[in-house]
Amino acid sequence: MISSAEQLDLHAFAPTLRRSHIIRAVWLMLACLCAWVPLEGAVTLHGHRYIPLPEVASRFGMDHTWRIRGQEASIHSKWSNLRFTLHQSHFTYNGQKVYLGEPIALSGGVLHVTEVDYENTIKPLFFPQQYDPKPKLYHIVLDPGHGGKDSGAQNASLKLKEKYLAMDLAKRVKARLERYGYKVTLTRTDDRYIPLADRPEFANRVNADLFVSLHFNAITNAKVDGIETYVFTPAGHASTNAKTADKRTYPGNRDAPWSMLAGYHIQSQMINKTKADDRGVKKARFAVLKTLNCPGVLVEGGFVSHPREGRNIGSSAYRDKLADAIVAGILNYQKAINRARGIDS
Ligand SMILES: [Zn+2]
Repeated sequence: MISSAEQLDLHAFAPTLRRSHIIRAVWLMLACLCAWVPLEGAVTLHGHRYIPLPEVASRFGMDHTWRIRGQEASIHSKWSNLRFTLHQSHFTYNGQKVYLGEPIALSGGVLHVTEVDYENTIKPLFFPQQYDPKPKLYHIVLDPGHGGKDSGAQNASLKLKEKYLAMDLAKRVKARLERYGYKVTLTRTDDRYIPLADRPEFANRVNADLFVSLHFNAITNAKVDGIETYVFTPAGHASTNAKTADKRTYPGNRDAPWSMLAGYHIQSQMINKTKADDRGVKKARFAVLKTLNCPGVLVEGGFVSHPREGRNIGSSAYRDKLADAIVAGILNYQKAINRARGIDS
C-alpha cells in the first residue's frame, strides 16, 4: 500500500529529466549489475574477511587512485569521492566522516576494507536498491532523550538540561515533518521518565517506519564540540567507542542498510547547515536502537558543555536550524528510498 506521504513525495520531487540524470541513471544501472557479482580477492586479516578497495571501486563502476601509495586511496566518480587511510576506522564520503567497524588494512600492496563494513556501511550508501525489503516512510517516531528524574547532559552555568532541549527539538522537527505530510509520534510529550527499552518497544507497537532519538552531549573537557549520529553496530564488530565485539544479531541489525542511509543523510545535513565539527556517523549498541523493528538512528546534536556550542544549543534560532537540518536529512533519505524503488526523484 502506498502511504499518503509517499504520494506527496512523488509530487514534491517530480522528475526533471536532464542529460546528467540520464547519464547517471545509465552509470547506476551498469554499476549496479557489477555490484551484484560476488566480491573476489577476499583475504582474512586480524580475524576478519577483508576485500580490496580496487575491487570495491570496479564493482561500483568507479575509479581507484592512490593519494599516497600504500597509505591513502580514493574511490571516485563524477559525483562521489570516498577517501580511505591505512589503519583508520573511518572513511569520508564527499567530505563527510563515516565510521567503519574495523580499520582499513594493507595486503598485497592495496588497501582493504572488511566485508561487514562493505555490506553494512559502504554499499548501502550507493546501492540501497540491492537490499530488501525496501522500507516505506510515513510514520516517524521521534524520541526526545531522557526526561523526569533523568535530566541527561547539563550545563549549570548556561542553565541547560538535555531533557528539555531534546523535547524542544523534537517538537520543532515534528511540526516541520507534519507540514510534509508525515505522521509523527513522540515517545514522550512531557517531562517524564521512560526506561530506555520502552522507547523502541513503543516504536514497534505503533509500527513506525523510522525512529529518531534526539540527544545532546556533555563531557568534562569543555573544548570538545561537534555533532554525531549513531546507527546500531553490525554483528561481529566493536562499536565506535568500545573495544569488544559482539557476535550476536539483534532486531536492530535487520535494517542496517536503511539506518545507515538515514544516519548519513541526517548527519550530512546537520553539518552542512550548522557548520559544526563533524564527529561522523558512528556505531553503538544503544538500548534504544537494539530492539527496533524499523530503521533507526540516534542524533547527538552538539555539546552543551562547550561554551560556544552550548550557547548555540540554548538559542531557539539554532534549534530551528538543527530541526531544519534533521528534516532535510529525512527528506533526502526519502529520496534515496524512492530511487531504490526505481522512482526517479
Ligand atoms: Zn542523551
